[in-house]
Amino acid sequence: MGKKDVDVRFSKFGTVSFTSITKTNDFVDHLDTGKVTGTKCKGCGLIFFPPRADCYKCLSSDMEWFDVAGTGNLVTYSKLQYGPVGFEGDLPYTIALLDYGDYKVFGRLAQDIPDSDIQVGMAMKTVVNQLPNGHVNYVFQKA
Ligand SMILES: [Zn+2]
Repeated sequence: MGKKDVDVRFSKFGTVSFTSITKTNDFVDHLDTGKVTGTKCKGCGLIFFPPRADCYKCLSSDMEWFDVAGTGNLVTYSKLQYGPVGFEGDLPYTIALLDYGDYKVFGRLAQDIPDSDIQVGMAMKTVVNQLPNGHVNYVFQKA
């Protein structure tokens, strides 16, 4: 039996990808088709974002994908003037948390949103974003 090819699809995620191999590599394929996705446990119904391949509650690995669709409310945000190694070229950028009710999504605000427009509680949507280095991530835009 030949050695299996290593699935490194996740190396394409984000400005700097901290891992190339996960059990949720389909997440990146979904981004390539314009969809931001999480997982839902078929066993107990628990919802995960970021997606998980295994449920910590019922220990099932029987998951289904769902689309992060509609709008979430901005819970909190922080504008970064300093970033981790590898992210210097992105500065300044704003990290934020959206509450979708059944789950929360951590990410960045789109670069073109003026600071004066940002309000905690505002409705936002999560959209796929192409990065200059050929990578892909997702950002929050005003709904
Ligand atoms: Zn479960």
